[in-house]
Amino acid sequence: MSGPLSDRWTALQAALPATAQLLAVSKGHPAAVIRELAGSGQRAFGESRLQEALPKQEQLADLALQWHFIGRLQSNKVRSVVRAFPVIHSVDSLPLAQRVSRIAGEEEQWPEVLLQVKLRPDTNKGGFLRDELLSAWTELAALPSMTVIGLMTMAPMGCDADDRRALFQECRELADQLELRECSMGMSGDWQDAAAAGSTWLRLGSVLFGPRPSAPPQAG
Ligand SMILES: *Cc1c(COP(=O)(O)O)cnc(C)c1O
Repeated sequence: MSGPLSDRWTALQAALPATAQLLAVSKGHPAAVIRELAGSGQRAFGESRLQEALPKQEQLADLALQWHFIGRLQSNKVRSVVRAFPVIHSVDSLPLAQRVSRIAGEEEQWPEVLLQVKLRPDTNKGGFLRDELLSAWTELAALPSMTVIGLMTMAPMGCDADDRRALFQECRELADQLELRECSMGMSGDWQDAAAAGSTWLRLGSVLFGPRPSAPPQAG
């Protein structure tokens, strides 16, 4: 495959540290674009809206793609998300995690879960506060029918570059403290800092695909 998308993908892959994987955030882009990128070798795709993702997954069912759910997870969507996504980056409370585990058991699924953490005050986003996570940890780690594989975080809007680097570092340290391998952090505007801090999943949309033709509401 060649073309601008494939060129951007190749350049990004070359720039990533060996410890980080690229999650191609395909929200707002049609199935044909995902298919094109899959032709370059990209396997992991991130979507943040269930209603948008399901028809695309159906159109791409002939490809062996790995779908990651990265949007805010509403409790009434858990069943559908668990059915359609083997990896969920955005479990942001203990009750939600308990629900994911219960429903995954009913559905005979075993999702890999990243817990979303909020390490800076941010009214626009959900997430475990650090102390909440630590006090719920024993319960979270023991939930059946799902595996907690890591933490996910986002820098608040307007966070300056120094504080963002500190935030990514703190998230990495918290994951290490809990012996979690994965850290999902870094988007188009800040992925270099996240990669340097030890992100293992860079969630990249616009830097890879270009601007979204139909921008969905900002997730999280
Ligand atoms: C849209 C989105 C991204 C990708 O954003 P870009 O700035 O386009 O790279 C990453 N993470 C989440 C949770 C998103 O909703």
